[in-house]
Amino acid sequence: MERYYQPEIECASPEQIRAWQDERLVATVKRVYENVAYYRKKMDEKGVTPEDIRSVDDLHKLPFLTKDDLRDAYPYGLVAAPLKDCVRIQSTSGTTGRRVVAFYTQHDIDLWDDCCARAIVAAGGTNEDVVHVCYGYGLFTGGPGLNGGSHKVGSLTLPMSSGNTERQIQFMCDLGSTILCCTPSYAAYLAESIHERGLRDKIKLKAGIFGAEAWTQEMRRDIEEKLGIKAYDIYGLTEISGPGVSFECNEQTGMHINEDHFIAEVINPVTGEVLPDGEKGELVFTSITKEAFPLTRYRTRDICILSHKKCSCGRTHVKMTKPMGRSDDMLIVKGVNVFPAQIESVLLNKGYAANYQIYVDRINNSDVIEVRVEMTPEMFSDTVSIIATQEKELVEALKSMLGIYVKVKLVAPKSITRSEGKAVRVIDNRKLY
Ligand SMILES: [Zn+2]
Repeated sequence: MERYYQPEIECASPEQIRAWQDERLVATVKRVYENVAYYRKKMDEKGVTPEDIRSVDDLHKLPFLTKDDLRDAYPYGLVAAPLKDCVRIQSTSGTTGRRVVAFYTQHDIDLWDDCCARAIVAAGGTNEDVVHVCYGYGLFTGGPGLNGGSHKVGSLTLPMSSGNTERQIQFMCDLGSTILCCTPSYAAYLAESIHERGLRDKIKLKAGIFGAEAWTQEMRRDIEEKLGIKAYDIYGLTEISGPGVSFECNEQTGMHINEDHFIAEVINPVTGEVLPDGEKGELVFTSITKEAFPLTRYRTRDICILSHKKCSCGRTHVKMTKPMGRSDDMLIVKGVNVFPAQIESVLLNKGYAANYQIYVDRINNSDVIEVRVEMTPEMFSDTVSIIATQEKELVEALKSMLGIYVKVKLVAPKSITRSEGKAVRVIDNRKLY
């Protein structure tokens, strides 16, 4: 049983990690300033020269990059390597506005594969595993990332891609898949489908690596119980490479960021001020080993907390909490900040499955929010009075979590459309006005 494990890097001393970061940051800043007009312009505007950046202590002097910069510079404006050296393009789903495209040299792909391999190993993966990847392939980074990582570990890799649930389950049973990689909502759907078909005893899964969308601890427990596995979180974003920027270890108290490749900061999203460990703010990344698309101080919009507390797994890289919401996803309803993850946690706590949709509308200049929730088959009842009692109970629980009145409508099991990629949770009709 061989593991593709890099303890000399993942368990390096803080001084060693810092030395790598200092050296790689200085080189990256110099290179982007010299080769990319967009960076040069932004740094000149802020009056910063590459000579001002001598170590990580100087990082705060650099200007931020945002998704708007990536859109302005679309498609080639931020590429820092000759195009003849680039071998791959990946892209975000582009649900709003212009798509963001990211570029990779072969060296960048190798490093990305390393990051994903570390995530698979942290979830217990070895060359004896069968890794079942049902993230989408193609422009989306989920499939290619975990696929490359699984190859590096030496696992037998099943490039299933998303969709065709019947075939997913059949292959899982026939080929003995042991590690499942997909979005948590699809994992929940697969778990439900396996359960319904009475096939739980036929599957050999032991672990799952789930990411690319928000999920709660309750949803984790629900999936773990239904599939009899340990479920691990993984985090990443196309702009910074893809999945594997950070990942959970066995301790499951946050995700280790691959600090030899990415420097993480947490900032106050309003003032841009850098916050210390333990404070909640927006996560910002600087990639320090990428050739083609090395973004500096990229604002992720994800809200989280960093921690340098010692981890029982032996890894020394800083840990980030699961994102507690995105500044983009955050809904402001009646002046109150509402994160879909908060609503989901209430539902799961009350024994509902994670099948729900949030509708927001504006009626007579006032915001209204309604959550449609599927009853579980056990709860399903046609008795109007029982449904009304259950709805009332949820209204109260949501009010105590969010501080505002949320209308609740219980709907029949399976009446909310299932998604095979990222689930559509929020329908905000206010945007149409
Ligand atoms: Zn750990």
